[in-house]
Amino acid sequence: MIEWTETQQMIRRAVRQFIDAEIAPRIMELEHSDTPPYDVLRKMVKTFGMDVMATQQFQKQIAKERAQAAGTAESEPKEKKELSASEKAARIAAKADQEAMRMLPIIELCRYCPGLVTAMGVSIGLAGGAIQSKGTLEQKERWALPLLTLEKIGAWAITEPNSGSDAFGGMKSLARRTSDGQYVLNGNKTFITNGPYADTIIFICRLDEPDVPPPQRKVLSFILDKGMPGLTQSAPFKKMGIHSSPTGELFLQDVVVGKDRLLGGSEEGSGRSGAKDTFTTERSGVAAMALGIIERCLELSVKYAKERVQFGRPISEFQLIQLKLAKMEVARVNLQNMVFRHIELLANDKRPTLAEASAMKLYAAQAAVEVALEAVQIHGGNGYMVEYHVEQLLRDSKILQIYGGTDEIQITHIARDLLTREG
Ligand SMILES: Cc1cc2nc3c(=O)[nH]c(=O)nc-3n(C[C@H](O)[C@H](O)[C@H](O)COP(=O)(O)OP(=O)(O)OC[C@H]3O[C@@H](n4cnc5c(N)ncnc54)[C@H](O)[C@@H]3O)c2cc1C
Repeated sequence: MIEWTETQQMIRRAVRQFIDAEIAPRIMELEHSDTPPYDVLRKMVKTFGMDVMATQQFQKQIAKERAQAAGTAESEPKEKKELSASEKAARIAAKADQEAMRMLPIIELCRYCPGLVTAMGVSIGLAGGAIQSKGTLEQKERWALPLLTLEKIGAWAITEPNSGSDAFGGMKSLARRTSDGQYVLNGNKTFITNGPYADTIIFICRLDEPDVPPPQRKVLSFILDKGMPGLTQSAPFKKMGIHSSPTGELFLQDVVVGKDRLLGGSEEGSGRSGAKDTFTTERSGVAAMALGIIERCLELSVKYAKERVQFGRPISEFQLIQLKLAKMEVARVNLQNMVFRHIELLANDKRPTLAEASAMKLYAAQAAVEVALEAVQIHGGNGYMVEYHVEQLLRDSKILQIYGGTDEIQITHIARDLLTREG
């Protein structure tokens, strides 16, 4: 993929019109009041039929899994019909459109409000995605679909007051087995996106195994519902940026759950590998977020540089300003290429490795912050004022270097992969 296709450009224009009409005029309310972001996000999901698309895909997958479980699935034909080159190309193009449909709202929303993408991405991609990929059939039917359509809001909770970057190593949250096959959960989670309002929470903890050394104790994920006895969701934190994405704490005190809430239904492999898959999804999405921020900063900066006159000339005529604009454009092109490659990978049924996703996130996050900083600089004093919007984009971009693994942690993942490769 080297450019957006006609269809994708059409989708993009439609999303932009929606955002211009529904979100841009409400930006102050979304960013500077206590209004949760979910109604406007649900409206967007409905307007673009994202809920219908998610439901159809979900039902198709569930029907297949149900048939497999009942042993009535149609067996694969012994000799699979080889697709012709044009059939293959059409299949890839259709999948690329589907993936672009997932990316374009992220890019377009990030031009105005990266917080909305965070709230939506965590609910659909992390919480819904974790159940969809690792849950049992019953768990998918019970919890996944309302999250994938945004009817319900989800949170994904791994971070604790004393375990952030070392999420598994320092984890204190515990699940204790009871004699009647249930679990008792205890622990505190912090910085949890959607934490204050989430209807469904993926709670990641260690199994209390006194005879096993702490680092080797199993990591388990449980699905919790708002209002369960012993579960407290804090009010939203006040924070530097992404104000439209509520962030908070979760407190669990003796929350009793059955095995039906253990993600994947078994203690084997439900936690650690699931969490790693989630990191890969989250990190790849940051490239699209950064692209939206960079596109908007560049657009605003070019316009301002052409209009703002100092020393009798538009500031766009000064080479120091031109250098900033040129560097912003380089970042935009790089990010766009990364997003195109990512769409192409997914359209070809491939996924980036964790190290590749980390490389994308590292570059994307740093580029977004650098571009937003320079955008503020080009706007001078006005850039420091809320009305000029680059101020918000700078505050919002900073989170990309922190959540989903800090820059430093991405570097360690990339380096570990490089240094352990064969040959
Ligand atoms: C707005 C927001 C939303 C979030 N949403 C969620 C969410 O939905 N779910 C969730 O589970 N978590 C969430 N987080 C938590 C986020 O993932 C963590 O904040 C992040 O992983 C960093 O952990 P920490 O804050 O504990 O920093 P620390 O791990 O304490 O790091 C402090 C500093 O030390 C550096 N550092 C740590 N280890 C190393 C090392 N080995 N080498 C070099 N430097 C190192 C870090 O890079 C950083 O600069 C969110 C955070 C924020 C701010």
